[in-house]
Amino acid sequence: MSTYHQLVEEQREYYRSGATRDLAKRKEVLLQLKQLFIDNKQAFDDAIYADLHRKSDSISEAGYMVHEIDGLLKNMDVWEKPEKFPLVLPHLKEEEDDVWLVREPLGVVLVISPWNYPLLTAAPFVTAIAAGNTVIVKPAELAPHFSHLFASLINAKFDKRLLVVVEGAVPETTELLKEKFDHIFYTGNPAVGKIIMAAAAKHLTPVTLELGGKNPVYVDADADLEDAAKKIVGVKIQNCGQICLNVDHILTDTNTKPKLLEAIKKELVKLEPLKTNPVYPRIIHEKHFDRLSNLLSKTKGRLYYKSSEESERADKFIAPHLLEIDFDDAFMTEEIFGPILVVLTIESFDKALDYIKHSEKPLGAYIFTTDPEKTRRFIRETSSGGVTVNSVMDHAMFPHLPFGGVGQSGMGKMHHLWTYDALTHRKTVFTRNGVGKKLSDI
Ligand code: NAD
Repeated sequence: MSTYHQLVEEQREYYRSGATRDLAKRKEVLLQLKQLFIDNKQAFDDAIYADLHRKSDSISEAGYMVHEIDGLLKNMDVWEKPEKFPLVLPHLKEEEDDVWLVREPLGVVLVISPWNYPLLTAAPFVTAIAAGNTVIVKPAELAPHFSHLFASLINAKFDKRLLVVVEGAVPETTELLKEKFDHIFYTGNPAVGKIIMAAAAKHLTPVTLELGGKNPVYVDADADLEDAAKKIVGVKIQNCGQICLNVDHILTDTNTKPKLLEAIKKELVKLEPLKTNPVYPRIIHEKHFDRLSNLLSKTKGRLYYKSSEESERADKFIAPHLLEIDFDDAFMTEEIFGPILVVLTIESFDKALDYIKHSEKPLGAYIFTTDPEKTRRFIRETSSGGVTVNSVMDHAMFPHLPFGGVGQSGMGKMHHLWTYDALTHRKTVFTRNGVGKKLSDI
């Protein structure tokens, strides 16, 4: 019997015993988790810095977890309350019959997360606990400082039948995926998303897949180009471009292109020198440094601008590059996920819509324009996880609204009640002969 099999079975037995069902106990666990993130905020910040060279922003990832837990504590009583519905059907009797929606947890949940925001992307594990499940979390091996810290802190504090962090790379994850889970929450790239879904299908396990893709930015001739350049560069340097919602490629017309390129260059110059700029992190791993270097060597595009600072593999440093490319370029074959901005010429707004419509559905689609009709058509005629107009990524900053992809960029929603819904089942319950009237609680 593999260790993973034993672990999953122990969690399943613990779940079946009813130990995870008491709401007050779940809240106690959430409060313990909250304290763990408060007490170890600096340690998490340091570990993430060691992995990515990224200083925590105004709110650190551990700070975000505290916020997330507070949101759960505030709302879970309401979300858990069985909801009574009108009977509607004429043959049913108000004095004898009742119909309810009752929420129940799923069982054993597996959360697999990536390295770019290693704690934030693992956040569904706290929702899984709040909702009464047991959880196994598998963080990314490419962020080892984070992964070790997370595993040591969580595993020292919690009963592994309720919550455990399992470290490992592809071989370990492959073994783990042979087990039967009641839900798998995966965040990462679409290729691995298919592996996860295929493994889940063997057990008919539902999945949430939060994936990535090639997010287009269309800049219209009527847009405020300086504003667009400022916002595009502002997000592209965040986490060194390693954000699922980041700008992947920019589409604009022939006349606008030179002005836009110049405006972007102006913003890039302001940030130099990048090597010593504290807001500029590093590429996560040599593997990704090599992937990006390979794309840079294969591109047939024209380098419009790059600072004089040379790439340095030992430091995993790549300065932002600004390139003009064609649609058949190497950079258009995969999600760039790095500090390289590529600009393509598109004949018109309609052609841009057409191009986006014929590409895989991205996680985010962006347009810069002052024209309300173009805005309306962009929103209505393209499909994506979400749209931001006259900015980039900002549609994802609302924690009370759903976040997720569509098609190739993922399935299922997260944030707030949407994660809670994904990790629970709501069942219709119909009671007759008056017994429902006597229930004080379900
Ligand atoms: P990664 O390589 O760390 O992989 C993510 C997880 O999958 C890791 O835990 C890893 O161990 C596991 N994994 C990798 N290969 C596997 C395999 N063959 N079998 C089983 N498990 C495997 O991270 P990544 O995929 O490079 O992350 C970047 C991607 O994630 C980008 O595409 C980005 O857009 C996407 N992303 C999406 C979101 C979102 O919320 N939609 C958030 C962050 C990142």
